Amino acid sequence: MIHLQQIEKVYRTDTVETQALSGINLTVPKGEFLSIMGPSGCGKSTLLNIMGLLDAPSGGALSIAGSDTRQLRDKQLAQFRNQRIGFIFQSYHLINDLRVLDNVELPLLYRKSSAKERRSLAAEALGKVGLGNRMKHFPSQLSGGQKQRVAIARAIVGKPSIILADEPTGNLDSAMGNEVMEILLRLNKEDGTTIVMVTHDEQMARKTHRLVRLFDGAQVQ
Ligand code: ADP
Ligand code: ADP
Repeated sequence: MIHLQQIEKVYRTDTVETQALSGINLTVPKGEFLSIMGPSGCGKSTLLNIMGLLDAPSGGALSIAGSDTRQLRDKQLAQFRNQRIGFIFQSYHLINDLRVLDNVELPLLYRKSSAKERRSLAAEALGKVGLGNRMKHFPSQLSGGQKQRVAIARAIVGKPSIILADEPTGNLDSAMGNEVMEILLRLNKEDGTTIVMVTHDEQMARKTHRLVRLFDGAQVQ
């Protein structure tokens, strides 16, 4: 599903050059739930951003669902990302002055679906995360765990084949963190969604299929 070959990432500014990733080789098969761990600054977010087509690698090859991303133009990359990949972040990234249902509908605005279709898909996604009764609330009226569940609903509303989650339980206490983790495990198991999750939590990582450790931009063997 996701195939990285000799992926390099160098961040350059006028004065500094940071090698964030060096020679990453990684294959994430369809249906896998993979965890990525490692100390702060080791390149976890960079790796996730590259897999999510949010950032281009400086070298190496990335293919997703059989497509070599080097062959895709920016517009095609954006379309690919919108249709196949759902993102979840540590700090939810919800829009505070939009109601829950409208937040979840956002990714569908880039598609040619009708307003009615969008409503119904968003309601379905919220049902899946157990928030069918919070559609008219604003994010500020929800707990951290509920906000993250809204973010998961937004990530899955377009039925992506891949979910990329950057410390999805990082801001949550263990009860809410476990709830969020249970939902991700269920999406992986029941829908077959491929999931790559960055985490600092060994316990969460142990619930997934496989753990890759990074150190200083390289995989620990
Ligand atoms: P992690 O997610 O493991 O904390 P990151 O992927 O955020 O690590 O960062 C990896 C390295 O790249 C760090 O040394 C960081 O300082 C550097 N880095 C990340 N983003 C940028 C950027 N936009 N510009 C310059 N350096 C960056
Ligand atoms: P710029 O902002 O300079 O246009 P981009 O990050 O948009 O740079 O991309 C530069 C080139 O890298 C483009 O040709 C784009 O198609 C390609 N590219 C962008 N993201 C990726 C990616 N994740 N994997 C492989 N190639 C990419």
